[in-house]
Amino acid sequence: MTKTVAIIGAGMAGIAAGRQLHANGWTPTLFDKSRGIGGRLATRRSDHWRFDHGCPHFIATDDRFQALLDSLHHRRSLHIWAAGGSIGQPGMSGAARAAAGDLTVIGQAEVTAVEKTSCGWRIAERDGVIEAPGNGAFSALVLALPSPQIMPILKTADITIPALQNVVYAPCWTLMLGFETAPDLATPMQRFDHGPLEKIIDETGKPGRAGTIVVHAGAAWSRQNLERDKEDIAAEMLALFQAASGLGTAPSYKSAHRWRYANVERSAAVPFIWDAAHSLGLAGDWANGPGVEAAFLSGHDLAAEMSAAANL
Ligand SMILES: Cc1cc2nc3c(=O)[nH]c(=O)nc-3n(C[C@H](O)[C@H](O)[C@H](O)COP(=O)(O)OP(=O)(O)OC[C@H]3O[C@@H](n4cnc5c(N)ncnc54)[C@H](O)[C@@H]3O)c2cc1C
Repeated sequence: MTKTVAIIGAGMAGIAAGRQLHANGWTPTLFDKSRGIGGRLATRRSDHWRFDHGCPHFIATDDRFQALLDSLHHRRSLHIWAAGGSIGQPGMSGAARAAAGDLTVIGQAEVTAVEKTSCGWRIAERDGVIEAPGNGAFSALVLALPSPQIMPILKTADITIPALQNVVYAPCWTLMLGFETAPDLATPMQRFDHGPLEKIIDETGKPGRAGTIVVHAGAAWSRQNLERDKEDIAAEMLALFQAASGLGTAPSYKSAHRWRYANVERSAAVPFIWDAAHSLGLAGDWANGPGVEAAFLSGHDLAAEMSAAANL
């Protein structure tokens, strides 16, 4: 019998789970609330510029993740950045798209509720139930989301997972700046240990991102200012950037983006969670993060466990 699995979240964890489950004979369908895929491997396009406004780069220390990066590099969806680490091409989300390959991904599908029935898992978005191939229910369910977004969905099925409650995410306000003429900053990535800003990233050295700068606010400043208006944040972060960099040129484009769950500060210290009784898997950077590699390994290893449990 076909083993169908609904994977909620098409970031690196969901994609890694989908790839491995598909390779092991499952039929995965990924759902994501966004139009595109990649989650925090994100790319914002404006008329003239392309910004990596989420994760700016990532590294591999594990052979399994390195094998994926090698294949993406071979397909030119990944580039080694002069400042260190790997970057997606043509933007960070390009790496996620290439990693997802032919997986079925349904976008603009925000899952709000799930239900375990005798036939399997039924999932619902705001507009109603999402039909699975066959009898309308999925054999298994994977939630590959930041843990604070997993908990309310599981609550709709009366499931509580205590390990998720201790996870802490740092938020991050990011500022995107576009310049007609690429500014000349001393270094591609400047880090700050103290103060409101954490990083200034000159993206000009990334192919196709000439004239763009992305600024990350630190976790403490982002927390303090989390609910503020994004226009106000953009103006204040621009002033902070100009003071820190000494660059007075006014940008032609500026926009701020709030990541409520940016980086894991305290993980659950588990590789993933697999609840065999419910055929329910949970993965993401919250498991053993922070970072993209941790998200990948969580999804990848969850899929291996699920396949072993299903004798696949
Ligand atoms: C500003 C910033 C800087 C970072 N810097 C680094 C770095 O330098 N190095 C590094 O390794 N990592 C960095 N990270 C972290 C890294 O991006 C993440 O650890 C990793 O991408 C997480 O992948 P994930 O699949 O676990 O989650 P996500 O990428 O968050 O994917 C979850 C997906 O679920 C979707 N979703 C959420 N709720 C629902 C729902 N109800 N229904 C359907 N879909 C839903 C979202 O749209 C998203 O696509 C950074 C992140 C940010 C934001």
